[in-house]
Amino acid sequence: MRFLEDLNSRQREAVTATEGRVRVIAGAGTGKTKALTYRYAYLVNVLGIDPANILCLTFTNKAAAEMRSRIALMVHSGDYNDFVCTLHGFCVKFLRKEIYRLGFPKSFTILDEEDAKALAKECMDELGIKRTEKTVKKFLDGIAAEKALNGYIEGYMLPGNVITDAMRRTGNLACFVSRQLKGWALDFDDLMNFTLFILDRFPDAREYWQEQLNYIMVDEAQDCNTDDWNLIEKLGAKHRNIFVVGDPDQCIYEWRGAKPARFVQFASDKDIVLDENYRSTPKILDIANCVIANNKNRIPKDLFTRRAEGRAVIHFHGKTEKEETDWIVSQIRLLLDGGASPQDIAILYRSSWQSRALEQALLSEQLAYVIWGGIRFFERKEIKDTIAYLRLLANPDDDLSFLRIINMPSRKLGRAFLDRLRDLAAAEGASLFRTLEKHAPELGKPSAEAFVQLITEGRERVGQVTVSDLMNQMLEASGLKRVIREDQDEDRLENLDELLRSVRFYEQAHAEEEPTLTDWLQDIALYTNADYRKETRVIKLMTIHQAKGLEFPYVFITGLSEGTFPNMRTIREYKKNGEEEERRLMYVAITRAEKALFLTESEGYNVATKMSKYPSRFLAEIKKNMVVVEGTIPEELWRGTRNLVHVLDEENFVPEVLGAAVAARTGADGFAGDRAEYNSPFQVGQTVSHAIFGIGTILSASSDFSTFQVRFSDGATRHLRASFLSLPDMPE
Ligand code: ATP
Ligand code: MG
Repeated sequence: MRFLEDLNSRQREAVTATEGRVRVIAGAGTGKTKALTYRYAYLVNVLGIDPANILCLTFTNKAAAEMRSRIALMVHSGDYNDFVCTLHGFCVKFLRKEIYRLGFPKSFTILDEEDAKALAKECMDELGIKRTEKTVKKFLDGIAAEKALNGYIEGYMLPGNVITDAMRRTGNLACFVSRQLKGWALDFDDLMNFTLFILDRFPDAREYWQEQLNYIMVDEAQDCNTDDWNLIEKLGAKHRNIFVVGDPDQCIYEWRGAKPARFVQFASDKDIVLDENYRSTPKILDIANCVIANNKNRIPKDLFTRRAEGRAVIHFHGKTEKEETDWIVSQIRLLLDGGASPQDIAILYRSSWQSRALEQALLSEQLAYVIWGGIRFFERKEIKDTIAYLRLLANPDDDLSFLRIINMPSRKLGRAFLDRLRDLAAAEGASLFRTLEKHAPELGKPSAEAFVQLITEGRERVGQVTVSDLMNQMLEASGLKRVIREDQDEDRLENLDELLRSVRFYEQAHAEEEPTLTDWLQDIALYTNADYRKETRVIKLMTIHQAKGLEFPYVFITGLSEGTFPNMRTIREYKKNGEEEERRLMYVAITRAEKALFLTESEGYNVATKMSKYPSRFLAEIKKNMVVVEGTIPEELWRGTRNLVHVLDEENFVPEVLGAAVAARTGADGFAGDRAEYNSPFQVGQTVSHAIFGIGTILSASSDFSTFQVRFSDGATRHLRASFLSLPDMPE
């Protein structure tokens, strides 16, 4: 049992208390995951438990893979098995064995998010539901809500159930499920629901699995949702050996239904508290403790560490985003020159669109990086599609770009049509677009003619308008943006906003040269054609959600501006709870760092709030003597942060009006601040943009200018709160 000497006495207690319901409740970096891994090894190596009888649940596939490799080092080789997995991973294994009971083949397929969206679109078309009436996301939310009500498995999915045409025509769920059944396809909700259903209805299956899973261990239990808990409790009901570890301060999935209260209320036979942090220096830990203490809804706890003081935490303030990313790159250079390895460095951000500026800065400096658990900005589908449109405008003979976008969005030009076009092009020795241009009328496809017109009109504007305007117009005219709006895919919309903003930056930076479309395409070729070798020893970029459970010697938390982090949408939607969840996210981010922590933000225009950037409230919560500030932060910026927090506290969730409210409070706009129409950025007659409905015109305003009647391009008139509107052209 020499290996237990690596642990402190409480961890050892957690490892050796193998029987009963045991909970480890402890802060970040206190060795919870380490204790869990050692417990697995203890069960196998010391008690002789077969790994087939241990279910070890983690939160992400990556975490499960990491856990398996750690366990593999400790247990006799070949002795670990794949019950070290995520909850959904377990459901899949369970169903492969048991789903025959419901008449499904064991080779059932799994619908990922994109597959589910595609199925939803087919259903919406069949049911005649317009995308302006209901977004794909709303449709899928409705399906999930109906599935959560139980009864749908007996009602629709079992053998012998007949879904009639009449049922399909009248019910979203019936329509969706009947399409699923055609391919024996289960979505993520079904994986969990089917597993629970089988455990409930088939006593022999229940008894088998309850007997089989002698020990159940769960990492990151604070983020389990109600179904997760039900499954864990059901599986553990016979042996009652359930070991859960978690940290309520790190619950970052409440928006997806996590129930940290279930963890706090877990009926345990034994509780073990760990409070020594082994990961971070005291300076880093002080900041983590200081920030999280601002959450009201928490059980107070402080962490301590015996590690040496370490280096000061730096807060860098840049005048521009470029200054911010340049500074990050210069610090990375210093770290590397000082002997750090690239893989020891992690750059974290709140939302995936934020990677764009960082990636460009790293690529310009030829610093290799990987996006952990995500896709590089210029490889994201919506970015590649947009660039393909612009490439085709610049060069109509670019067949690759043509093929990428001819059916993006769908123009229902199938393979036969494209084959014919290819044959014609080959015969004439012309490019696909030129061939289509010439032959479109005789090919009998109006959508193909419309495409030719779209590209021709776009080409006429090249050189007449700026690249950013051209991009904006193509996004709207092609329907690319409309499709994403209809999907209500906020991440993709944010990526497009970010791309557009980067073009504007580029235009500003090269204003004197009046850059052309070709100039811009050449400029970004470095990023779009970058040669990405699969390297593992590289700098890692990731969202904070992806960083959960991980640790790195050097951590940068970037883009720390109000609205970006904390995220304005979260606060607007979930109010105080949203703010606290964002703060827990900040706590997770800070506590990833072992040796050095860098916090960065900059001035400029804020995509999220559509107003000026102010430093994040989380920076304001850190005591002055805990960080070294680099760069000068004008006092009015902090004032902007304070005002914003204050206004949000009053639950005035109107970012655009907020901008005016802040200006009014600081007296910047010269008005007393009580005339709503002066403070509102929206006026009657003005063109505004809405994330779902697109572009519209304001017909009238409520007396306090908080709601507006807007006519949209689909002809419909809607009353909308100001917070859901924005000015279509971003002020730079
Ligand atoms: P998080 O809350 O972020 O998931 P955690 O509580 O799971 O953190 P671990 O990842 O298990 O913490 O451990 C944090 C770091 O501390 C790891 O590098 C681990 O090896 C080290 N560590 C844990 N326990 C000890 C110990 N008793 N002695 C020395 N180092 C330890
Ligand atoms: Mg952990």
